[in-house]
Amino acid sequence: MLVLGIECTAHTFGIGIVDCKNKKVLFNEKNQYKDDENGMELRKLSEFHTSNFTEILSKAKKFLETKNKSFKDLDLISFSQGPGIGNSLKIGSLVAKTISKQYNIPLVGVNHIKAHLEIGKMLTGFTDPMFLYVSGVNTQIIAKDEFGKYKIYGETEDIGLGNLFDSFSRQAGLGFPGGPIIEKLSNESNKNYIELPYAIKGMNITLAGLYTNLQQKLDSKKFDLKDLCYSLQETCFAVTMEVCERAMAYTNKKEMLIVGGVASNKRLTRMAKDMCGIRGARYDSFEMQYAMDNGAMIAWQGFVDKEKSTTDITKFPIAQYINIESDI
Ligand code: AMP
Ligand code: MG
Repeated sequence: MLVLGIECTAHTFGIGIVDCKNKKVLFNEKNQYKDDENGMELRKLSEFHTSNFTEILSKAKKFLETKNKSFKDLDLISFSQGPGIGNSLKIGSLVAKTISKQYNIPLVGVNHIKAHLEIGKMLTGFTDPMFLYVSGVNTQIIAKDEFGKYKIYGETEDIGLGNLFDSFSRQAGLGFPGGPIIEKLSNESNKNYIELPYAIKGMNITLAGLYTNLQQKLDSKKFDLKDLCYSLQETCFAVTMEVCERAMAYTNKKEMLIVGGVASNKRLTRMAKDMCGIRGARYDSFEMQYAMDNGAMIAWQGFVDKEKSTTDITKFPIAQYINIESDI
């Protein structure tokens, strides 16, 4: 079954084509909006997507031609219904619905977060993992409950890990995105730990206090920047891992995966591996192109949700504010 997936929830316009019966990603291309100074300005973001989606679409068309196929040979079109930024979601939905209508191919709208999780399972062969979902905005600890529904076991009560890295990096004049820069500086540091707030509330964490404290330390000019980066990583990853471990103990899960952009941080994955090792659980990772926003994960989620597909393109309205526990 050949499924084409369209990702357009925020900064990325991506298309993936997956041979779902054989669990093989055939094509996965994307364009990403980036504005180092202003972040995501909504008007510019929609201009970016409207003027760039044709490039990825023609790459997909050309790819199919190399396999002696065309859009007509697709079995299903899948797109991110939500959650995300309205301006982006509308464009992804419009492109998906247009292809579906033009070639009379069934369509399905999917939950972007579920797609992040399910592609991880498909690629690793894990069946029932505890997920740490860490993107720019989100920091959530998610797994299936006893009824087989995804449930959030813990999360940040304010900013996400990615946002914390990006905000601190901007503040320190280091650039955007902050995560990779802070990881590099942390590796270069002398590993002198500077005490920072460590805030866990039940199964949730808070990071805003940590950020304010870091800002004050930065402004005081009394601390080495590399040591601050090191201490930031150690502290925010340790609080996150503590909640992951509690969630694994509570649910008795024996597998763990990390998805989202922050998953590329080697210190975070090291902590996860160590924690799983101590618990006799398995940790696995997969190629970063599939852990970040991408079209292949949307195609795969379309396959998972194929029973909901229809050629009636009036179905599947965009859903900006859904979460992992929603019905979509
Ligand atoms: P996403 O929203 O899933 O596209 O992820 C983007 C976020 O991942 C940004 O906030 C980045 O700063 C963060 N990120 C990317 N690479 C790293 C890294 N090596 N360490 C920590 N955060 C990272
Ligand atoms: Mg995402």
